[in-house]
Amino acid sequence: MSGAGSTAVNTLLPTSIVGSLPKPAWLAKPEVLWSPWELQGDALVEGRQDALRAAVHEQQRRGIDIVSDGEQTRQHFVTTFIEHLDGVDFEKRETVRIRDRYDASVPTVVGAVSRRQPVFVADAAFLRQQTDRPIKWALPGPMTMIDTLSDHHYRSREKLAWEFATILNQEARELEAAGVDIIQFDEPAFNVFFDETKDWGIAALERAAEGLRAETAVHICYGYGIKANNDWKATLGAEWRQYEESFPLLQQSSIDIVSLESHNSHVPIDVIELIRGKKVMLGAIDVAREQIETPEEVADTLRRALGFVDADLLIPSSNCGMAPLPRGVAFDKLSALSAGARIVRQELGVDVGVGAGVGVG
Ligand code: ZN
Repeated sequence: MSGAGSTAVNTLLPTSIVGSLPKPAWLAKPEVLWSPWELQGDALVEGRQDALRAAVHEQQRRGIDIVSDGEQTRQHFVTTFIEHLDGVDFEKRETVRIRDRYDASVPTVVGAVSRRQPVFVADAAFLRQQTDRPIKWALPGPMTMIDTLSDHHYRSREKLAWEFATILNQEARELEAAGVDIIQFDEPAFNVFFDETKDWGIAALERAAEGLRAETAVHICYGYGIKANNDWKATLGAEWRQYEESFPLLQQSSIDIVSLESHNSHVPIDVIELIRGKKVMLGAIDVAREQIETPEEVADTLRRALGFVDADLLIPSSNCGMAPLPRGVAFDKLSALSAGARIVRQELGVDVGVGAGVGVG
């Protein structure tokens, strides 16, 4: 197996996860975001690889068809990428409002941004060696990147987003060459900044994904199950219709897959109709509570979605990343996800067993 596109998904309802899994306690402090590493130097490099191996092993054992790294080699889904870029000063920090929701101390853009060297490509190549299943790699989206910084150089969110889109495209092309089958951009900011999404956000995302042969995905969510997000969700009313802003634009875009929250959320299931024709990575696992879904609950969420998306375009997934959950809980949620997908596959008359039918195509 080598190069992009060497693996193909040929299971109906192939399961996947959005991004992060909890890290082992010997690698980073559990159940917190932005958790500091417990190891240093060569031990850290080796520890991260061992954690990635364990994440792959658990995903496969529990029936996940499209395998990710579980973000075991990075501290945070946005910051770790930005740390590797020139033009950003991590010593010079300012407190800004992130996603219009909570204050955080963030680094400052002090000059032209550029990518010194590949950021995740070696990690992706390592993931490629660990499995024959299709692999997915997540990058932050341009709008979400600028929302996590203070900018003293470009002084224009749009200009900085375009610079990041160019850098992301360089990285994405190299990830593809390392054998990544699906490249996902995380854009939770699309659920907050509607005017910018329309004016330049979608275009910047398409720039980041330009020219790729790998499938491309965008993940838009309501965030991890942390307090600031839960408080925000409480203000959104009985029906969460934020996706109605970005979905019609994404339906017209070059992006192949759209990832959204569904299970236990207030997102009306019929919003999926707005991305008709796209693959839908549907959140059928709640990441904001520790209770494990039953397979039947997962199946029910998938069945409701099938009213608005063709079965061959549905990818059962989690609502968001699972980094803040206890490790055992996250792993049991993977099992629930695949068991729920299996129920629906059987109903559709196409069950081929856990993990079967996925591999080198
Ligand atoms: Zn998310």
